[in-house]
Amino acid sequence: MKCRCGKEAIIHLRPYRLSLCDSCFVDFYERKVRRFIRKWRLVEPGETVYVAVSGGKDSAACLAVLQQLSVELGIDVAAIHINLGITGYSEKVEDACRRLCRMLDIPLEVVNLVDAYGVGVEELARSTRRSACSVCGVVKRYLMNRVPRELGANRVATGHNLDDVVEFFFKNWTSGNYFWISKQKPLLPSTHPKVLPKIKPLFERSGLENEMYVKARGLPYEADECPHAVTSRWGEIAELVEERAPGFKLAFARGLEEIKIVAPEPQFTQCSVCGEPSSGDPCAFCRILRAAA
Ligand code: AMP
Ligand code: ZN
Repeated sequence: MKCRCGKEAIIHLRPYRLSLCDSCFVDFYERKVRRFIRKWRLVEPGETVYVAVSGGKDSAACLAVLQQLSVELGIDVAAIHINLGITGYSEKVEDACRRLCRMLDIPLEVVNLVDAYGVGVEELARSTRRSACSVCGVVKRYLMNRVPRELGANRVATGHNLDDVVEFFFKNWTSGNYFWISKQKPLLPSTHPKVLPKIKPLFERSGLENEMYVKARGLPYEADECPHAVTSRWGEIAELVEERAPGFKLAFARGLEEIKIVAPEPQFTQCSVCGEPSSGDPCAFCRILRAAA
């Protein structure tokens, strides 16, 4: 496999019918992300964008590519990591985030759930009798909005990739969670003065592309999955379709970008415990904490 420049290729991009070497791939990737950010106006000059970093390849790629494009986009980039207190895992991923931000020279804010609230995600899951993943989702959504906002962020970026987007769609469509699907967009505008806009710059980039990008740039990340992660069959099904019809995921995501899915928006009220905007009182985060107290 040769790149168009003659060098040995490191990746073959089936949807684009393109084989690229490491340096041509880095150019290709950055060009695609730049174009995507401009197309959907994901950022405005003068803004501070906080990237939520998990320690994994996708958010590492998101942070690195946003920093790479930050001068021409006129933005400041910072990072936030939430240590969820998952035994044998959270230490490792926090360490990966610290190494990544040190290498890129990007300020990193680490929120430690156990230090700040006295309980980790596993304990919260036990006391609420909910799955670790659902509790974790509540905690991350809450802190990934509140902490960057308090630090002066204008937007929060996540590393959600093309594979996530397609899997998420099928999983939620087939279980009737249309509200969640309606939120599956490159840009989620603010719906409340205390809710930051959320952006997904890697909406059209596959997990493999993100992995190759961080590898080509020699950036550290943690490859191990969270011990509570459940693999969804919808991810596997989407992969089977992709094999039969290369480019399926990309075309699907582009459809999602264009169409408007209208689902009823919850009315905001203010949580009487923490003061954050929420659809219920207390908010989902405070309810979980209360159950563990
Ligand atoms: P996940 O919910 O694990 O699929 O992750 C989706 C995105 O959320 C990642 O790409 C990150 O941007 C962000 N994220 C996940 N876990 C964390 C974490 N512990 N701290 C900060 N951001 C995270
Ligand atoms: Zn609350």
